[in-house]
Amino acid sequence: MRKELKKLVQALTAPLAPLVWRARPAPRLLVLMYHRVLPERHPDRAYEQPGMYVSPETLALHVEILKRHFEIVHLDEWARKAVDRERLPRLACALTFDDGWRDNFDYAFPVLRAQSVPATIYLLSDLVGTRYSFWPNKLARLLGDARNNTYRARWPQWLGQVLTDVGVSAGARLPIPMQYIDAAIGRCKVLYPDAEITELVSAIATAGQEAVGDDRDLMNWDEIRRMAEGGKIRFGSHTRRHTRLEARVPLSALQDEICVSRTLIEQQLQVSVTSFCYPNGDHCPAAVDLVRTAYATAVTTQRGWNRAGTDTYLLKRVGVHEDVSSSPSAFLSRLLLA
Ligand SMILES: [Zn+2]
Repeated sequence: MRKELKKLVQALTAPLAPLVWRARPAPRLLVLMYHRVLPERHPDRAYEQPGMYVSPETLALHVEILKRHFEIVHLDEWARKAVDRERLPRLACALTFDDGWRDNFDYAFPVLRAQSVPATIYLLSDLVGTRYSFWPNKLARLLGDARNNTYRARWPQWLGQVLTDVGVSAGARLPIPMQYIDAAIGRCKVLYPDAEITELVSAIATAGQEAVGDDRDLMNWDEIRRMAEGGKIRFGSHTRRHTRLEARVPLSALQDEICVSRTLIEQQLQVSVTSFCYPNGDHCPAAVDLVRTAYATAVTTQRGWNRAGTDTYLLKRVGVHEDVSSSPSAFLSRLLLA
């Protein structure tokens, strides 16, 4: 029933979206945040957080709708014009993809190329081309694979506590539904710094689980270079290892993650790297200061639109994923309510 009601609200609000956009003060920039692009039958969909993926068909639908209402631009070009006070399109939109997933090459690239639209992909310089899975993915696989209690008995106490915190009791039925796995990942982000949670999760991920769908997760440099040809798709930095740039991270580590990642990507691609993306959206003041010295733009995960006067180092974005944007009305109302 709630689903039906949601659909009805979307159907009623969607036609208003273009009218509202035109009525609001201009110019404006909408930056969309994508992560993975996975077809319906892709095995990784079973282990991925709902907020992390769209299907290739949904991405194509988005581009088609966006082209009707927006000028699709390169993020850094829009920002340069805004800083130089040059004329900006009334309604501009920029597409961004975080992490550099291999599926971006396999499934997003064909859509972007066919529609000839610009996009920016944020890479983890040290993890390009690796089988590395992020700890949230490992944890999601680990929890999603649990089908019996013998398996669950091997989990350490900290994980039992995290699950209790999000409402999964020790006797709860298995497998654990994805919304609870999602909540457990969120809880871990609050409780543990990156280095610690990465180690904790690795310690319980058995060899068997590591093998599940764990063929190379991230694009390699060859794929990145092929996407970069022609200049429509550009690459920015998302740090070296996806370290969240929180106040507890020492300055030397911030410097390393922010500045060295740029040099490493530039060496590989032989183009200058001007845009940055804060992992998980976390940005302590020291990190923002460093980003200002090394880049021209940076994107956050803070939801909203940008104006000509918005700080180009704290650009807002709107996350779009399959469960909230797979139909035209769902997509339009998502953007309207951002
Ligand atoms: Zn990321």
